[in-house]
Amino acid sequence: MYIKPGTMLGLLGGGQLGRMFTVAAQQMGYRVTVLDPAAESPAGSIAEHHLQADYLDDDALDELGSTCAAVTIEFENVPAQALRYLARRCIVSPDAESVSIVQNRIREKLFLAENGFPVGPFAVIHDGQNLPWVDVSLFPGILKSSQSGYDGKGQIRIEHADILPEAFTALGNKPCVLEKRLSLTREISVVLARDNLDQVTFFPVPENRHKQGILDMSIIPATLSDGVIEKAREIARQIAIRLNYAGILCVEFFVLDDDQILVNEIAPRPHNSGHYSLNACVTSQFEQQVRILCGLPHGSTRLVQEAAVMTNILGDLWKNGEPDWNRILCHPQTKLHLYGKRAAKPGRKMGHFTVLANTVEEALQQTARIRQDLQF
Ligand code: ADP
Ligand code: MG
Repeated sequence: MYIKPGTMLGLLGGGQLGRMFTVAAQQMGYRVTVLDPAAESPAGSIAEHHLQADYLDDDALDELGSTCAAVTIEFENVPAQALRYLARRCIVSPDAESVSIVQNRIREKLFLAENGFPVGPFAVIHDGQNLPWVDVSLFPGILKSSQSGYDGKGQIRIEHADILPEAFTALGNKPCVLEKRLSLTREISVVLARDNLDQVTFFPVPENRHKQGILDMSIIPATLSDGVIEKAREIARQIAIRLNYAGILCVEFFVLDDDQILVNEIAPRPHNSGHYSLNACVTSQFEQQVRILCGLPHGSTRLVQEAAVMTNILGDLWKNGEPDWNRILCHPQTKLHLYGKRAAKPGRKMGHFTVLANTVEEALQQTARIRQDLQF
Protein backbone atom coordinates (compact mmCIF):
# COMPACT_ATOMS: atom_id res chain seq x y z
CA MET A 1 0.00 0.00 0.00
CA TYR A 2 1.24 3.46 -0.77
CA ILE A 3 -0.02 6.94 0.03
CA LYS A 4 -2.01 8.23 -2.92
CA PRO A 5 -1.50 11.60 -4.62
CA GLY A 6 -4.01 14.14 -3.34
CA THR A 7 -3.27 13.14 0.25
CA MET A 8 -1.94 15.70 2.73
CA LEU A 9 1.66 15.23 3.91
CA GLY A 10 3.02 16.93 7.04
CA LEU A 11 6.34 18.70 7.39
CA LEU A 12 8.00 19.89 10.58
CA GLY A 13 10.04 22.98 9.81
CA GLY A 14 9.60 25.69 7.20
CA GLY A 15 13.14 26.33 5.93
CA GLN A 16 14.56 25.95 2.42
CA LEU A 17 14.89 22.17 2.67
CA GLY A 18 11.19 22.07 3.48
CA ARG A 19 10.42 24.35 0.57
CA MET A 20 12.20 22.01 -1.86
CA PHE A 21 10.40 19.00 -0.31
CA THR A 22 7.08 20.84 -0.74
CA VAL A 23 7.78 21.60 -4.41
CA ALA A 24 8.64 17.92 -5.04
CA ALA A 25 5.53 16.71 -3.18
CA GLN A 26 3.24 19.12 -5.01
CA GLN A 27 4.79 18.16 -8.34
CA MET A 28 3.72 14.58 -7.62
CA GLY A 29 0.17 15.66 -6.71
CA TYR A 30 0.44 15.69 -2.92
CA ARG A 31 -0.59 18.50 -0.62
CA VAL A 32 1.57 19.73 2.25
CA THR A 33 0.94 21.17 5.70
CA VAL A 34 3.95 22.90 7.27
CA LEU A 35 4.27 23.28 11.02
CA ASP A 36 6.63 26.16 11.82
CA PRO A 37 6.42 28.80 14.57
CA ALA A 38 7.47 31.66 12.28
CA ALA A 39 4.80 33.76 10.56
CA GLU A 40 6.76 33.63 7.33
CA SER A 41 9.00 30.85 6.09
CA PRO A 42 10.32 29.51 2.76
CA ALA A 43 8.14 26.34 2.97
CA GLY A 44 5.20 27.82 4.88
CA SER A 45 4.63 30.39 2.17
CA ILE A 46 4.16 27.82 -0.61
CA ALA A 47 2.50 24.90 1.23
CA GLU A 48 -1.29 24.37 1.04
CA HIS A 49 -1.48 24.92 4.76
CA HIS A 50 0.75 26.55 7.36
CA LEU A 51 0.21 25.77 11.03
CA GLN A 52 1.93 28.58 12.87
CA ALA A 53 2.64 27.05 16.26
CA ASP A 54 5.36 25.67 18.47
CA TYR A 55 6.64 22.16 17.65
CA LEU A 56 5.31 20.94 21.01
CA ASP A 57 1.88 22.56 20.69
CA ASP A 58 -0.61 19.71 21.32
CA ASP A 59 -3.42 21.24 19.25
CA ALA A 60 -1.15 21.79 16.25
CA LEU A 61 0.27 18.26 16.52
CA ASP A 62 -3.26 16.83 16.82
CA GLU A 63 -4.30 18.70 13.69
CA LEU A 64 -1.20 17.54 11.81
CA GLY A 65 -1.66 13.95 12.98
CA SER A 66 -5.34 13.83 12.04
CA THR A 67 -5.10 15.56 8.64
CA CYS A 68 -1.83 14.10 7.32
CA ALA A 69 -1.15 10.52 6.26
CA ALA A 70 2.58 10.86 6.90
CA VAL A 71 4.89 13.41 8.49
CA THR A 72 8.57 14.12 7.89
CA ILE A 73 11.09 16.74 9.01
CA GLU A 74 13.28 19.29 7.28
CA PHE A 75 15.67 20.04 10.13
CA GLU A 76 16.97 17.89 12.96
CA ASN A 77 16.22 20.13 15.90
CA VAL A 78 12.57 19.19 16.00
CA PRO A 79 11.84 17.91 19.53
CA ALA A 80 11.89 14.10 19.32
CA GLN A 81 8.89 14.21 21.66
CA ALA A 82 6.81 15.79 18.88
CA LEU A 83 7.69 12.89 16.57
CA ARG A 84 6.82 10.34 19.24
CA TYR A 85 3.45 12.04 19.81
CA LEU A 86 2.67 12.14 16.08
CA ALA A 87 3.65 8.51 15.58
CA ARG A 88 0.52 7.46 17.47
CA ARG A 89 -1.61 9.07 14.77
CA CYS A 90 0.20 8.74 11.45
CA ILE A 91 3.34 7.52 9.67
CA VAL A 92 6.42 9.42 10.92
CA SER A 93 9.72 9.08 9.11
CA PRO A 94 12.48 9.36 10.14
CA ASP A 95 11.44 8.16 13.60
CA ALA A 96 11.94 9.87 16.96
CA GLU A 97 14.73 7.46 17.99
CA SER A 98 17.01 8.25 15.02
CA VAL A 99 16.38 11.97 15.27
CA SER A 100 17.04 12.07 19.01
CA ILE A 101 20.45 10.48 18.46
CA VAL A 102 21.69 12.65 15.61
CA GLN A 103 20.26 15.96 16.90
CA ASN A 104 22.58 15.82 19.89
CA ARG A 105 26.33 15.78 19.18
CA ILE A 106 27.15 13.83 22.34
CA ARG A 107 24.63 11.08 21.61
CA GLU A 108 25.68 11.10 17.93
CA LYS A 109 29.41 10.76 18.70
CA LEU A 110 28.83 8.03 21.29
CA PHE A 111 26.48 6.15 18.94
CA LEU A 112 29.18 6.22 16.23
CA ALA A 113 32.07 5.29 18.51
CA GLU A 114 30.20 2.55 20.39
CA ASN A 115 29.09 0.94 17.13
CA GLY A 116 32.64 0.90 15.76
CA PHE A 117 32.22 3.60 13.10
CA PRO A 118 35.43 5.59 12.50
CA VAL A 119 35.46 9.01 14.22
CA GLY A 120 38.27 11.41 15.09
CA PRO A 121 39.56 11.86 18.67
CA PHE A 122 37.03 13.64 20.90
CA ALA A 123 36.01 14.20 24.51
CA VAL A 124 32.54 14.69 25.96
CA ILE A 125 32.21 17.66 28.30
CA HIS A 126 29.03 17.49 30.36
CA ASP A 127 29.86 20.32 32.74
CA GLY A 128 32.66 22.53 34.06
CA GLN A 129 33.97 19.73 36.30
CA ASN A 130 35.12 17.78 33.23
CA LEU A 131 37.32 20.65 31.98
CA PRO A 132 40.52 20.00 33.98
CA TRP A 133 40.56 16.35 32.84
CA VAL A 134 40.46 16.93 29.11
CA ASP A 135 43.30 15.19 27.28
CA VAL A 136 45.88 17.75 26.05
CA SER A 137 46.39 15.74 22.85
CA LEU A 138 42.99 17.13 21.66
CA PHE A 139 44.52 20.61 21.14
CA PRO A 140 44.34 22.50 18.86
CA GLY A 141 40.69 21.53 18.88
CA ILE A 142 37.14 22.64 18.16
CA LEU A 143 34.60 22.93 20.93
CA LYS A 144 31.10 22.17 19.64
CA SER A 145 27.89 22.72 21.53
CA SER A 146 25.94 19.45 21.74
CA GLN A 147 22.58 20.97 20.77
CA SER A 148 21.24 23.04 17.88
CA GLY A 149 24.48 24.04 16.11
CA TYR A 150 24.48 24.47 12.32
CA ASP A 151 26.56 26.21 9.65
CA GLY A 152 29.51 26.41 12.05
CA LYS A 153 27.36 28.11 14.73
CA GLY A 154 27.85 26.94 18.32
CA GLN A 155 31.52 26.13 17.63
CA ILE A 156 34.74 27.70 18.87
CA ARG A 157 38.24 26.91 17.66
CA ILE A 158 40.65 26.46 20.55
CA GLU A 159 44.43 26.64 20.26
CA HIS A 160 45.46 25.81 23.85
CA ALA A 161 43.93 24.02 26.82
CA ASP A 162 44.09 27.20 28.94
CA ILE A 163 41.34 28.92 26.95
CA LEU A 164 38.98 25.95 27.17
CA PRO A 165 37.08 27.24 30.27
CA GLU A 166 36.56 30.62 28.59
CA ALA A 167 35.24 28.96 25.41
CA PHE A 168 32.99 26.64 27.42
CA THR A 169 31.46 29.69 29.13
CA ALA A 170 31.08 31.47 25.79
CA LEU A 171 28.99 28.51 24.58
CA GLY A 172 26.71 28.90 27.60
CA ASN A 173 28.25 26.36 30.04
CA LYS A 174 26.21 23.69 28.29
CA PRO A 175 27.21 20.12 27.35
CA CYS A 176 29.76 20.09 24.51
CA VAL A 177 31.99 17.86 22.46
CA LEU A 178 35.65 18.79 22.09
CA GLU A 179 37.16 17.47 18.86
CA LYS A 180 40.80 17.39 17.89
CA ARG A 181 41.26 19.67 14.87
CA LEU A 182 42.23 17.40 12.01
CA SER A 183 44.21 18.12 8.91
CA LEU A 184 41.67 17.37 6.18
CA THR A 185 42.56 16.70 2.56
CA ARG A 186 38.92 16.57 1.48
CA GLU A 187 35.37 16.49 2.76
CA ILE A 188 32.75 14.31 1.11
CA SER A 189 29.17 13.36 1.92
CA VAL A 190 26.99 10.36 1.23
CA VAL A 191 23.29 11.02 0.75
CA LEU A 192 21.22 7.85 0.70
CA ALA A 193 17.58 6.84 0.76
CA ARG A 194 16.47 3.80 2.76
CA ASP A 195 12.98 2.36 2.98
CA ASN A 196 11.29 0.05 5.48
CA LEU A 197 12.28 -2.99 3.42
CA ASP A 198 16.00 -2.17 3.68
CA GLN A 199 16.28 -1.10 0.07
CA VAL A 200 18.98 1.57 -0.24
CA THR A 201 19.82 3.96 -3.09
CA PHE A 202 22.80 6.31 -3.07
CA PHE A 203 23.23 9.71 -4.69
CA PRO A 204 26.53 10.45 -6.46
CA VAL A 205 29.11 11.51 -3.85
CA PRO A 206 30.11 15.20 -3.85
CA GLU A 207 33.31 16.78 -2.60
CA ASN A 208 32.35 19.62 -0.26
CA ARG A 209 34.32 22.81 0.30
CA HIS A 210 33.53 24.99 3.29
CA LYS A 211 34.22 28.62 4.16
CA GLN A 212 34.06 29.67 7.81
CA GLY A 213 32.29 26.45 8.72
CA ILE A 214 29.56 26.97 6.09
CA LEU A 215 29.26 24.83 2.96
CA ASP A 216 30.49 26.91 0.02
CA MET A 217 30.59 24.49 -2.92
CA SER A 218 29.83 20.87 -3.74
CA ILE A 219 31.68 19.31 -6.65
CA ILE A 220 30.20 16.27 -8.38
CA PRO A 221 31.48 13.67 -8.77
CA ALA A 222 34.18 13.79 -6.07
CA THR A 223 37.47 12.81 -7.65
CA LEU A 224 38.61 10.17 -5.19
CA SER A 225 39.52 6.56 -5.73
CA ASP A 226 36.53 4.26 -6.12
CA GLY A 227 37.71 2.42 -3.01
CA VAL A 228 37.25 5.50 -0.80
CA ILE A 229 33.80 6.25 -2.24
CA GLU A 230 32.70 2.65 -1.77
CA LYS A 231 34.00 2.59 1.80
CA ALA A 232 32.10 5.80 2.64
CA ARG A 233 28.90 4.42 1.11
CA GLU A 234 29.19 1.19 3.04
CA ILE A 235 29.71 3.06 6.32
CA ALA A 236 26.69 5.27 5.59
CA ARG A 237 24.58 2.21 4.78
CA GLN A 238 25.63 0.50 8.02
CA ILE A 239 24.76 3.67 9.98
CA ALA A 240 21.29 3.68 8.39
CA ILE A 241 20.82 0.00 9.25
CA ARG A 242 21.98 0.53 12.85
CA LEU A 243 19.50 3.38 13.23
CA ASN A 244 16.78 1.27 11.58
CA TYR A 245 16.38 4.37 9.48
CA ALA A 246 13.70 5.17 6.93
CA GLY A 247 14.04 8.28 4.78
CA ILE A 248 16.87 10.39 3.41
CA LEU A 249 20.08 10.31 5.41
CA CYS A 250 23.30 12.27 4.91
CA VAL A 251 26.64 11.27 6.39
CA GLU A 252 29.44 13.86 6.22
CA PHE A 253 32.97 12.47 6.05
CA PHE A 254 36.47 13.83 6.57
CA VAL A 255 39.15 12.43 4.27
CA LEU A 256 42.69 12.44 5.72
CA ASP A 257 45.91 12.37 3.71
CA ASP A 258 46.31 8.58 3.66
CA ASP A 259 42.75 8.19 2.27
CA GLN A 260 41.56 7.29 5.75
CA ILE A 261 37.95 8.39 6.23
CA LEU A 262 36.22 9.50 9.42
CA VAL A 263 32.55 10.24 10.01
CA ASN A 264 32.04 13.92 10.85
CA GLU A 265 28.29 14.09 11.42
CA ILE A 266 24.92 12.71 10.36
CA ALA A 267 21.84 14.60 9.13
CA PRO A 268 18.43 12.85 9.25
CA ARG A 269 17.13 14.64 6.14
CA PRO A 270 18.16 15.89 2.70
CA HIS A 271 21.37 17.89 2.87
CA ASN A 272 22.76 21.08 1.38
CA SER A 273 25.48 19.02 -0.32
CA GLY A 274 22.71 17.12 -2.17
CA HIS A 275 21.05 20.20 -3.68
CA TYR A 276 22.85 19.59 -6.98
CA SER A 277 20.54 16.56 -7.42
CA LEU A 278 17.65 18.95 -8.21
CA ASN A 279 19.21 19.61 -11.60
CA ALA A 280 21.92 17.01 -12.08
CA CYS A 281 20.10 13.75 -11.26
CA VAL A 282 17.10 11.94 -12.71
CA THR A 283 15.55 12.06 -9.22
CA SER A 284 16.38 14.74 -6.65
CA GLN A 285 16.94 14.07 -2.96
CA PHE A 286 13.62 15.82 -2.27
CA GLU A 287 11.62 13.71 -4.71
CA GLN A 288 13.26 10.65 -3.16
CA GLN A 289 12.19 11.90 0.28
CA VAL A 290 8.58 12.11 -0.98
CA ARG A 291 8.80 8.66 -2.57
CA ILE A 292 10.11 6.98 0.60
CA LEU A 293 7.61 8.79 2.83
CA CYS A 294 4.73 7.68 0.61
CA GLY A 295 5.91 4.07 0.20
CA LEU A 296 6.66 4.50 -3.52
CA PRO A 297 9.59 2.95 -5.44
CA HIS A 298 12.95 4.77 -5.36
CA GLY A 299 13.76 6.87 -8.42
CA SER A 300 17.03 6.65 -10.35
CA THR A 301 19.80 8.84 -8.93
CA ARG A 302 21.84 8.71 -12.13
CA LEU A 303 23.55 11.95 -13.24
CA VAL A 304 21.94 13.46 -16.33
CA GLN A 305 25.22 15.15 -17.18
CA GLU A 306 28.79 14.13 -16.33
CA ALA A 307 29.59 16.87 -13.83
CA ALA A 308 28.04 19.59 -11.67
CA VAL A 309 29.15 22.25 -9.20
CA MET A 310 26.71 23.69 -6.67
CA THR A 311 27.53 27.02 -5.02
CA ASN A 312 25.67 28.47 -2.04
CA ILE A 313 24.48 32.06 -2.21
CA LEU A 314 24.71 33.71 1.21
CA GLY A 315 23.15 36.95 2.41
CA ASP A 316 26.59 38.64 2.18
CA LEU A 317 26.00 38.98 -1.56
CA TRP A 318 23.29 41.58 -0.87
CA LYS A 319 25.73 44.09 0.63
CA ASN A 320 25.21 46.43 -2.32
CA GLY A 321 21.55 45.58 -2.83
CA GLU A 322 19.89 42.79 -4.82
CA PRO A 323 22.49 40.94 -6.92
CA ASP A 324 22.13 41.01 -10.70
CA TRP A 325 20.84 37.50 -11.41
CA ASN A 326 21.48 37.91 -15.14
CA ARG A 327 25.12 37.26 -14.33
CA ILE A 328 24.14 33.72 -13.38
CA LEU A 329 21.24 33.15 -15.73
CA CYS A 330 23.13 34.26 -18.83
CA HIS A 331 24.86 30.88 -18.64
CA PRO A 332 22.26 28.51 -20.07
CA GLN A 333 23.72 25.43 -18.34
CA THR A 334 23.39 27.07 -14.93
CA LYS A 335 20.32 26.78 -12.70
CA LEU A 336 19.41 29.32 -10.02
CA HIS A 337 17.40 28.55 -6.89
CA LEU A 338 16.29 31.27 -4.46
CA TYR A 339 14.51 30.42 -1.24
CA GLY A 340 12.19 33.44 -0.98
CA LYS A 341 13.71 34.77 2.26
CA ARG A 342 12.92 38.45 2.74
CA ALA A 343 15.88 39.50 4.89
CA ALA A 344 19.42 38.90 3.64
CA LYS A 345 21.85 38.58 6.56
CA PRO A 346 25.57 37.74 6.40
CA GLY A 347 26.04 33.97 6.56
CA ARG A 348 22.34 33.27 5.87
CA LYS A 349 21.66 30.80 3.07
CA MET A 350 19.51 32.65 0.53
CA GLY A 351 19.80 30.34 -2.46
CA HIS A 352 22.23 28.36 -4.60
CA PHE A 353 23.20 27.83 -8.21
CA THR A 354 24.29 24.70 -10.00
CA VAL A 355 26.51 24.61 -13.08
CA LEU A 356 26.13 21.52 -15.29
CA ALA A 357 29.02 20.56 -17.57
CA ASN A 358 30.76 17.69 -19.33
CA THR A 359 33.73 17.67 -16.98
CA VAL A 360 34.41 18.76 -13.40
CA GLU A 361 37.11 21.17 -14.70
CA GLU A 362 34.61 22.85 -17.01
CA ALA A 363 32.00 23.15 -14.23
CA LEU A 364 34.61 24.63 -11.88
CA GLN A 365 35.79 27.13 -14.49
CA GLN A 366 32.25 28.27 -15.23
CA THR A 367 31.58 28.61 -11.49
CA ALA A 368 34.75 30.68 -11.04
CA ARG A 369 33.68 33.02 -13.88
CA ILE A 370 30.25 33.57 -12.30
CA ARG A 371 31.76 34.19 -8.88
CA GLN A 372 34.23 36.66 -10.30
CA ASP A 373 31.39 38.44 -12.08
CA LEU A 374 29.36 38.70 -8.90
CA GLN A 375 32.48 39.34 -6.79
CA PHE A 376 32.25 36.62 -4.18
P1 ADP B 1 27.88 22.01 11.24
O1 ADP B 1 26.84 21.33 12.05
O2 ADP B 1 27.88 23.48 11.43
O3 ADP B 1 27.89 21.56 9.79
P2 ADP B 1 30.41 20.55 11.45
O4 ADP B 1 30.78 19.80 12.68
O5 ADP B 1 30.06 19.75 10.26
O6 ADP B 1 29.24 21.54 11.90
O7 ADP B 1 31.59 21.56 11.13
C1 ADP B 1 31.54 22.44 10.03
C2 ADP B 1 32.85 22.38 9.24
O8 ADP B 1 33.97 22.76 10.09
C3 ADP B 1 33.21 20.99 8.74
O9 ADP B 1 32.55 20.67 7.55
C4 ADP B 1 34.74 21.14 8.58
O10 ADP B 1 35.06 21.88 7.43
C5 ADP B 1 35.13 21.98 9.79
N1 ADP B 1 35.44 21.08 10.93
C6 ADP B 1 34.56 20.62 11.86
N2 ADP B 1 35.16 19.81 12.74
C7 ADP B 1 36.45 19.71 12.38
C8 ADP B 1 37.60 18.99 12.90
N3 ADP B 1 37.52 18.23 14.00
N4 ADP B 1 38.78 19.15 12.26
C9 ADP B 1 38.89 19.95 11.16
N5 ADP B 1 37.85 20.63 10.62
C10 ADP B 1 36.64 20.53 11.21
MG1 MG C 1 28.38 19.73 9.01
